[in-house]
Amino acid sequence: MSEKQEIVTIDGPSGVGKSTLSRQVAAALGYTYLDTGAMYRAVALFFKRQQIDLDDEQAVCFALSGLDIQLFPAEKEDGDVGVLVNGQDESQAIRTPELGMLASRVSAIPAVRAQLTAMQQAIGRSGKIVAEGRDTGTVVFPAAAWKFYLEAEPQERARRRVAQLRAAGQEVDFEELLKQTLKRDRDDQERTLAPLKKAEDAVIIDTTCLNIQAVCAKILQIIQD
Ligand code: C5P
Repeated sequence: MSEKQEIVTIDGPSGVGKSTLSRQVAAALGYTYLDTGAMYRAVALFFKRQQIDLDDEQAVCFALSGLDIQLFPAEKEDGDVGVLVNGQDESQAIRTPELGMLASRVSAIPAVRAQLTAMQQAIGRSGKIVAEGRDTGTVVFPAAAWKFYLEAEPQERARRRVAQLRAAGQEVDFEELLKQTLKRDRDDQERTLAPLKKAEDAVIIDTTCLNIQAVCAKILQIIQD
């Protein structure tokens, strides 16, 4: 069997608690937190601003060659990772439901996945990380030592996302967000390239009735055992 990398992967659908958990697990272990979703959101924002036709492969590839994404740690302990898109701070702009939907569309484009996967793997080679996303345990880091797949009831996931967005000052409608959440998950699961799915060797945790502290403790116990 190939050697395991000192990497923790946490995958699952939107609103399942991945970001908060990954941040806490990374802090507890002293690992770097890698939010791969933030990278897809950054590409989506860049393409939107550049008015790139997502069906035009050449235009997509050309745009990608002029794109630089840098992640930086959140200012607040419980905040989202920050993102620089070609040197511009877009940390807030990428966190809207609209950008989440657009990121999902953009994430099905092969050239986008190839570029971001390579970037994520390079980050993984440079140190110990907790990677969060949809395909981190299956495609990006198949040799990760610890893999987790989180799931929760859609209603609960939408409720959490609404609370999170409202706390960040965004106006959102629960029913609309639930509809979007279901569509985004279906699209992420059904795409041919790196779909959202459980890695065979992932530990599956249903977070519907668990609070973050309980899930975090469970994950840390498995890792430190
Ligand atoms: O996790 P987050 O909501 O920020 O991700 C936004 C979108 O980016 C997801 O709905 C998914 O389509 C895409 N994504 C992906 N692979 C990842 C992380 C995110 O396809 N590893």
